Amino acid sequence: MFRSLHMKLVLIMVLLIVSLMTVVGAFLINSVAGFYTREFYSQMADVFNEDQSLYRDLSESTGEEEDSVAMIRDVLRGYAGALGIDSRTRNYYILDGETARYLGGSDDENGPTLEITPNLTAALAGQYGSRSDPSADYMDVALPLERGGESYIIYIRDNRQTVQLLNAQLFTLIVEALFFGLVISVLLSFLLSKTMINPIEKLTAGARRVAAGDFSSKLEVASRDEIGVLTGTFNEMARQLQDTIREVENERNKLGTLFLYMTDGVVAFSRDGAVIHSNPAAEEMLGRSIPIGGEVGYTDLFGDVAPLEEVLGVEGSLSAERQAGERSLELLLAPFSGEGQGGVLVVVHDVTEQRKTEEMRREFVANVSHELRTPLTNIRSYAETLADSAGSLPPETEKNFLGVILNESDRMTHIVQDLLTLSRFDSGRSELRLAPFSFEAAIRDIYNANLMEAQRHGHTVRLELEPGLPQIVGDRERILQVMMNVVSNAIKYTPDGGQILLSAGRTGERVWMEVADNGIGIPKADRGRIFERFYRVDKARSRESGGTGLGLSIAKEIIDRHQGTIALVDREGPGTTIRIELNIGGPDHGT
Ligand code: ADP
Repeated sequence: MFRSLHMKLVLIMVLLIVSLMTVVGAFLINSVAGFYTREFYSQMADVFNEDQSLYRDLSESTGEEEDSVAMIRDVLRGYAGALGIDSRTRNYYILDGETARYLGGSDDENGPTLEITPNLTAALAGQYGSRSDPSADYMDVALPLERGGESYIIYIRDNRQTVQLLNAQLFTLIVEALFFGLVISVLLSFLLSKTMINPIEKLTAGARRVAAGDFSSKLEVASRDEIGVLTGTFNEMARQLQDTIREVENERNKLGTLFLYMTDGVVAFSRDGAVIHSNPAAEEMLGRSIPIGGEVGYTDLFGDVAPLEEVLGVEGSLSAERQAGERSLELLLAPFSGEGQGGVLVVVHDVTEQRKTEEMRREFVANVSHELRTPLTNIRSYAETLADSAGSLPPETEKNFLGVILNESDRMTHIVQDLLTLSRFDSGRSELRLAPFSFEAAIRDIYNANLMEAQRHGHTVRLELEPGLPQIVGDRERILQVMMNVVSNAIKYTPDGGQILLSAGRTGERVWMEVADNGIGIPKADRGRIFERFYRVDKARSRESGGTGLGLSIAKEIIDRHQGTIALVDREGPGTTIRIELNIGGPDHGT
């Protein structure tokens, strides 16, 4: 009932008025009683002062035998005004000085039955009794008097009725004042609560709207008092909160987008191992869907790498590698902590390419050393034999040996040159010298250059060119090097007496050239790898014919640089067909 501020305010006002009126009433009633008592005793003291005429009048004796009581009564009657005697509330009594018996006075009704009060006892003992007893319901003074040899007591007694009457009136007055005060205070508190509580209610409504996420409305600052300041502060707080929420949302969106499009997979788990976040890259790499809060948890996904408790206790991160089918995945597991939350974050990085490259590099280094070691061993053994024999060998044999040494060193030079060419391509130091040249003339040059060699092997070489082949833009020397390599391969890998066809044409903005032979062909399993460095189908045969296994890889580098293509043509029948395509306009002019 007293929950609302309205009611609290009313209650406070009521309590305030009631307590105020109670205190004021108590003080008033008390002081009225006190005042009356003090007034009584000081009045009595004044009248009964020995210097006063009353005392003299009473003590004086006329000398004649007369009725003393009547005389005293007369004197007292004369002083009735000064003593405040009214026969109703205040009376005088003339008592016997020895027995306190009632001899006469203004109250014959109660006079004979007067009780002996402490003041009367004092007067009986000859003392003036004027002690006030606040607890008694009367006030009295008793004056002993000697007259004509007789002793009397003049006793004045007030039954306090006046005070009681006054107090009763005062009480009624206070109760009435209290009632009106209460009515006014209740009205006032309602009025006050309107002016004070309305802004607070508005503030409460505003706070509710903000709590529900609505920051649009601003509260009006209607006053400059504490509530006005509070409203202003509230507006400022709401604005700051909105800014902060916007910032956090922005950050979250940024992070969300980052997670969505990043190439690394990210999966976050809560402390109990449930998925709380995962991105598409993670699902793709792990090859399964990872729903948030779904059945799949940490143990299913990474339990084999390390138990969740172990990762949660790790300082920094744990890393591991895992093979998933063809893929090599690098896993990074790290704990993260938030207020009372935290969990484990797993980053999945696809290192397949990296591992492949590393493997290729290792293979390449092994191949280079092997390729260089073979001719070196040959040179060394022939040179040793020559040195050991010291001219004892027939000149014919010596010549042969020297021929082998020369051949092998030529081979080494070839390999080193090819390696240099490749390394220039790799480091980007080899610039293409682009210029327009006739594609047809280049093919004819290659045809002519290889004709003798082909004829030596009894091959028939045919040239089939579409009419009107255009000029193309490219590095003529390098393109000739590629054509040369492909044609000489056709000659090399075709048994004597074979057929070789050089054809060329144009499709759209590109020109093409194909070199087809009916030689030993390339087995299906090796087709994908012949453009790799040092890859050879038949190592012995290649070496025999002076091959290094680098020719086609250099050719591919050159053609790639021209943004063209070089590939094996999948064709039925024996032999091999290699097709080269180039942009007519050169690199950067592809369709
Ligand atoms: P190589 O110097 O050994 O000829 P290449 O890089 O030019 O090296 O060729 C790589 C391998 O591809 C060769 O060793 C060979 O096994 C195979 N090859 C290339 N051209 C042909 C072809 N016309 N017929 C059969 N096999 C070929």
